[in-house]
Amino acid sequence: RVNRNDFMNALDEVTPAFGVAKEELEQVIQNGIIHFDQVVDDILRSGQLFVDQVRTSTRTPLVSLLLHGPPGSGKTALAATMAQSSDFPFMKLVSPDDMVGFSESQKVAAISKTFADSYKSPLSVIVVDSVERLLDFTPIGPRFSNTVLQTLMVLFAKRPPKGRRLLIIATTSLRPILTDLGFSESFDSEIRVPPISKLPALQHVLEEVELMKDPRELKQTMQMLVQAGFGSQDDVNGLNIGIKKLLSIVEMARQEPENVGERLVTSLMGL
Ligand code: ATP
Ligand code: MG
Repeated sequence: RVNRNDFMNALDEVTPAFGVAKEELEQVIQNGIIHFDQVVDDILRSGQLFVDQVRTSTRTPLVSLLLHGPPGSGKTALAATMAQSSDFPFMKLVSPDDMVGFSESQKVAAISKTFADSYKSPLSVIVVDSVERLLDFTPIGPRFSNTVLQTLMVLFAKRPPKGRRLLIIATTSLRPILTDLGFSESFDSEIRVPPISKLPALQHVLEEVELMKDPRELKQTMQMLVQAGFGSQDDVNGLNIGIKKLLSIVEMARQEPENVGERLVTSLMGL
């Protein structure tokens, strides 16, 4: 006999296409966002403004935004957070990670389908992640997929059908090549996502992830970092590390409870 539970289970199984896309976004922000510096809030606030613009302005049915910064600075997580907080009915992540082994034409088809799907929703946001990897950019040559580039340029310029609005948030860790490729003009706005360069920001992260149980140990670690020269304010000689890398160093250091602070400092010095 079919009962109410079976019915509810069946409903769960029919996850709507939009719901699936939402999970992709959630996956890249699993580790959460640590508000280690004012700049993090500033970036998210800017993102919110673009979301609001797309939602409310009838004059700008298409807005494209580029998040750029060094590897691991948190671009993907921030783009996904912006997209998710829009709560638009269509939210989708276009990631090279999901296109491993795709031919050029399969990539073009996948990207085009995402945009075509978005045009069915009144409000959409698409995160186009790691553009240089989507383009298969290699500095040797240099080489890249011109077919994918042309596809992206056309889609980034194409106004959605009447009554439809779309926000595109792209990310790249190779900002300069987008200029070389003539792609940077495709963006309405750009936001830089910087690495962590100040000790207070680093300390904030360490506190948040509770690497050290004892506050004295944290204090000692911070002093060691100053002695190691990381207190310098300029990015070249001072600290210069993406949040992604920092979190992975933290997790490595956590594996052994002895001298966590020292091992952290050593890892940072070895970068
Ligand atoms: P890549 O250059 O390799 O593409 P990325 O710049 O896209 O890297 P992410 O993949 O977004 O970096 O990695 C950032 C990681 O740090 C994520 O796991 C994210 O959850 C975590 N994180 C914590 N705090 C922040 C923050 N304030 N901003 C961004 N990411 C954060
Ligand atoms: Mg990324």
